[in-house]
Amino acid sequence: MTDFPVGTLVWVEVGEGYLLPGKVKAKGKNNNSIIEANGKEHCIAFAQLLQGVKKRDAIPEKGMEDMIKLSQLHEGSMLYNLNLRYKHDLIYTYTGSILIAINPYHLFDIYNVETARAYEGQLLGALPPHIFAIANSAYMHMNANRQNQCVVVSGESGAGKTESTKLILQYLAIINKSTHNLITEKILEATPILESFGNAKTIRNDNSSRFGKYTEVFFDKQGCIEGAKISDYLLEKSRIVFHADEERNYHVFYEMISGLSQEHLDKLGLSAADKYFYLNQGRGISFESKNDSQDFQRLNEAIDFLGIQDTEKDGVFHLLASILHLGNVCFRAKSKEDQFASFKNTEALDVCCNQLQITKERLRVALTHKRTVTRGEEFHTPLLVEQALDARDALAKALYSHLFNWLVMKINSIVYANLPKYSVSIAVLDIFGFEMFQVNSLEQLCINYANEQLQYYFNEYIFHLEQQEYMKEKIDWKTIEVRDNQPCIDLISKFPIGLLHILDDESHFPKSTDESFLDKCHHEHSQNPNYIHPKQKVLVFGIRHYAGNVWYNVEYFLDKNRDVFRNDFVNILQDSKLQFISTIFNQTLTNQPNQTLAGTATRKRMPTVAAKFTQSLNSLIDTMKKCHPFFVRCIKPNEDKSSLNFIEKLVLEQLRYSGMLETIRIRKSGYPIRLDFDSFLSRFHFLARNKEKLREMSPKVGISHILKSVNATGFQIGQSKVFLRETTELILEKTKSIE
Ligand code: ATP
Ligand code: MG
Repeated sequence: MTDFPVGTLVWVEVGEGYLLPGKVKAKGKNNNSIIEANGKEHCIAFAQLLQGVKKRDAIPEKGMEDMIKLSQLHEGSMLYNLNLRYKHDLIYTYTGSILIAINPYHLFDIYNVETARAYEGQLLGALPPHIFAIANSAYMHMNANRQNQCVVVSGESGAGKTESTKLILQYLAIINKSTHNLITEKILEATPILESFGNAKTIRNDNSSRFGKYTEVFFDKQGCIEGAKISDYLLEKSRIVFHADEERNYHVFYEMISGLSQEHLDKLGLSAADKYFYLNQGRGISFESKNDSQDFQRLNEAIDFLGIQDTEKDGVFHLLASILHLGNVCFRAKSKEDQFASFKNTEALDVCCNQLQITKERLRVALTHKRTVTRGEEFHTPLLVEQALDARDALAKALYSHLFNWLVMKINSIVYANLPKYSVSIAVLDIFGFEMFQVNSLEQLCINYANEQLQYYFNEYIFHLEQQEYMKEKIDWKTIEVRDNQPCIDLISKFPIGLLHILDDESHFPKSTDESFLDKCHHEHSQNPNYIHPKQKVLVFGIRHYAGNVWYNVEYFLDKNRDVFRNDFVNILQDSKLQFISTIFNQTLTNQPNQTLAGTATRKRMPTVAAKFTQSLNSLIDTMKKCHPFFVRCIKPNEDKSSLNFIEKLVLEQLRYSGMLETIRIRKSGYPIRLDFDSFLSRFHFLARNKEKLREMSPKVGISHILKSVNATGFQIGQSKVFLRETTELILEKTKSIE
C-alpha cells in the first residue's frame, strides 16, 4: 500500500484537541509512519494512520483569504490558515462575508487614504480582506438598496473592537460623498471624548472600553454623512470607586491632572494624582503606552471643536474634581461606645462641597445619616463607618454616571440634530464580549445575556445565508438544525419567570434578600437544562451559555439591581449653585414614595438596572433586525499584548466562543464541501465506471455518473457546484486511493 508515501501532507491529532498540519517524513518499523507536525516528530501506527489521519490539501504559502474556500474546513485548518496569514502580517481573513481580525499589536501602514480609496466601490473579496472592505460593502449595500446596515464587532477585551470601530468610521468619513464635512469631523471627534470618559487601563487592555456603544451614522440620498447617534450601554460604575492592582480609574481623571494648567488645578483644589484614593489603588499612575498630558490636549481640542460651551466644560472639571475630593473623605467611629460614623477630617469634604457649590452641612448629614420619611415626618438615623463609606461611594458613582449620560446626550445633540426621515444608516456595535471570571456578578449576567442575544442574531443570519446559497443553486434542502440558544435567552429574560424578571420583582419587594432571590430562581428553574443548581448550599447559580458554563454569585444582586440613588443626595445636588450640577441632576427621577389618591404611600416602581438593560438591549436587537448585518470577529492572539505572537490555543478558544466553529458546524450539517464542476471532475473523473463515455457527458450528467459509480449518497448537484457531505467526500477519497 502506498497510501501515505513520504512527503504526503496530512492532518494529525496529537493531543492538542484539534488537527495539526503534518507531513509524512519517513517510514518507520512495522509500517509505522514518522509524521512531522508542530515542529516535532510523531510516530503513528499504520492502523491509526488509516483510521484517524486525513490527507491534507496544500494551501497557498500565505494562506487562503476566504476560509470558505478551504477544501477542508475544521478547527485545525482554520487555525493553520489564520496562523499562516498572521505570520505574513496578514491580520484579516474572511469566512464568507464574516471578517476575522487578529490583533497585531503593531500598527501597519494599511489604513491610509490611498488604501481607503482603493477599496471604494469594490465588491467584497475583489481585494484582500480588510476592515475597509467591510465598511465599503456596508456603504455600497446601503446606497444600492436604501437599507440600513449594521456592523457587529465582537471579541474579548483587548481583541481590537474599538480600533476596528474607529477604522470603520474613518473609512466612511473618507469615502462619503459630502463636500461639507464639518459634521463628519464632529462625529470623529466625539470618539476621543468618549474614550477619555469611558475607557480605562485594565489588566487586559490599556485602553479598555468600560461601556458598550452603538454608533449610527446617517446618510442622505446622495450618500453623504448627515449626522450620527450614539447609544451607550452599561457603563462600569464600580470603577469610579475601586480599581484592581495594575488598573486605573477612567482616563479623564489622570489626563485632567496631567494636562491642566497649575492655575486651573489650584482652582479645582487638585494636586498630584497619587494623592487621591480613587486614583491610586492600582499602584502606578502613569504607564508607558499612554501620554496623559497629550491626550488631555486632544480631549480639550475635541470638546472645543464640538462646540461644548466653556461653562459646561468648567462644570465638568468641577464635577470630576469633586469626585476625587469626595474619595478622600474618611470616617471613623465616634468612640468605642458609639460606633457611628464621624468624619476623620473635614478638609476633603469642604473642598468637595466647594467644587459642587452645595451646602456643607447638608452633605455632612447626608453622608453620615440615613433619611427616612414616615407620615410626613423626617428622621435621620446615624450610619456605621462601613455604611457611610458606601454612601460616599454611591454618591461618587452617581456623580460620574450622570456626567457620562449628560456627555452622551450632549454629543448627540450636536451630531444628531434634526435629521430628515429619509436618512439611511450604517451602525457599528462595539460591545463587551462574553465574560467568565472567577467571580461573576450581575454585570456579567447582563453582558453574557447580551452576548446570547447577539449570538442568536448571528445564527439567524448565517442560517439565512446558508439557505440563500442552496436556493441560488436550486438544490433540495431540509431545514438545518442550528443549536438554538433561545431556551437560554428564555431562562434569563422570558416573562414572567426569567431570572432577570425574578430579580426585578424581588428588587421591588422590601423584605427580599439575595438569598430569597436565589431560592426563587432554584424553585422556578432547577429542572431547566440550561440552569445549574449548585450541589452545595452556596450563593450561586449557574447558566449553560452557548460559550460555556458560568457560575454567578448572587451576593449584592439586589442592591446592584436597585441602584438607588438616595433622594437626599439628589435634592442637595439639585440645589447646587453651580448651574451645570443642578441641571444634570434635575433630570433625575426620584425614588420618593408617591402619595396615591387614596392617601396611602406607595413606592413608585423605578426601573431597575436589569429592567433598563433588558429594555435597551431589546430595542437594540429590534433595530438591528431591520438592518443588513456584517460581522467582524476580533481575536486576541496572546495575553501579553505582544506584537505578532500567535498562541493557537487562545485563538481556538475565541473561534469557539465567537461562533465561528458554530458557523462551520451549521455548514457541516448541510453540505460543507462545495466544488465547482471542473474541480470535481478533475479530482474524481477516474472513479467513473464508464470512463470512455464520461467525456461525452455534460458536466452535470458526468458528475452524477461518477457519484453513482461509487454508490455515494449525501450529495446534491446544483447549477454550478456539487454539494457534498464530509462523509461523502471521504468515501470518494478512499475509493480514489484504492483504485
Ligand atoms: P475592550 O473590550 O477592552 O474595550 P477592545 O476589543 O475594544 O477591548 P481595542 O481597545 O480596540 O480592544 O484594542 C486594544 C489594543 O490593541 C489597542 O489599543 C491597540 O494597541 C491594539 N490594536 C487593536 N487593533 C489594532 C489594529 N488593527 N492595528 C494595530 N493595533 C491594534
Ligand atoms: Mg474597546
